[in-house]
Amino acid sequence: MTSASPYLTTIAGSLPKPHWLAEPEKLWGAWQHQGAALDRAKRDAALLWLKLQEDAGLDIVTDGEQFRVHFVHGFLEQVSGIDWARTTKMGIRDNRYVVDVPTVTGALSLRQSVHAEEVRFVRGHTRRKLKWTLPGPMTICDTIADAHYGRRADMAMAFAAILNQEVRQLEALGLDMIQIDEPAFNVFMNDVYEWGIAALDRTLEGLTCQTAVHICYGYGIEANVKWKETLGSEWRQYEAIFPALNTSRVDQVSLEAQGSNVPLSLIRLLPDKVIQVGVIDVASKAVETPDAVAAVLAEASRHADAARIIASTNCGLAPLPREVAEAKLNALVVGARRASG
Ligand code: ZN
Repeated sequence: MTSASPYLTTIAGSLPKPHWLAEPEKLWGAWQHQGAALDRAKRDAALLWLKLQEDAGLDIVTDGEQFRVHFVHGFLEQVSGIDWARTTKMGIRDNRYVVDVPTVTGALSLRQSVHAEEVRFVRGHTRRKLKWTLPGPMTICDTIADAHYGRRADMAMAFAAILNQEVRQLEALGLDMIQIDEPAFNVFMNDVYEWGIAALDRTLEGLTCQTAVHICYGYGIEANVKWKETLGSEWRQYEAIFPALNTSRVDQVSLEAQGSNVPLSLIRLLPDKVIQVGVIDVASKAVETPDAVAAVLAEASRHADAARIIASTNCGLAPLPREVAEAKLNALVVGARRASG
């Protein structure tokens, strides 16, 4: 099936940092500057990616997450109630990898907006629709230790309240879409039912711009590739959570499809949502052909009205070589146009 109008196009969020901003081809590469020089370099990198996204033809652009190293800890830097010196070893994403995480030691509150200055800057430099991404409460709770709240659900609701404060401020600066990244939804499926949807809805309360939740199988790093090998020939994690997600207030669900074992028929479980279908594999440096992109969209449109489908990437493109990411942006748009016939 083809739609009369082209599929809208966007990306999950992150893009590679240029070599003059941070160590290239690393997920959490170190900054190359400090202070004012670093701020200047971040803004320049965001401008560069806005231009490249616009030239590729993307309809909904992002800052490429050029302003932060880690998508969770970048947000937490403005949150009070966290002891950064008190680290705890935690097996995150259900022990997929062990990292030292900071610890919540008191009531959480937001000192000041985390991204307002950045949104103001980026908004001033593009007329395209602009999406901003933030980590979700469940994923944050899976990346920090708790020595204060006692129950993960309670800590998640406290983070949701803070996130809501932040996204309301950001929306007022002219964002078209706010996306909450919740890769943990694919791991703790029971928690999604018990408190994950409630925390997501609390995060998005009162927003009138488009809202999205991104649920993926992670960046193409080794720990994730190994995890995927254990998931069998059909990945059905989405099947467990989509019925609950369909009842949430979120408008759109961003999921991975290209080069993955997710049966796309599962999007039938989201009849009331717009689906951002990942048509670009972020775990492979091979650039998709436009036909490969179009094929995923054609398959998705067998299960959801094409008007409810947006072409996107499986996850962030951050760890890839810059040239590969640029080529993938182009493949995404050319393929989406081809699919639209
Ligand atoms: Zn992702």
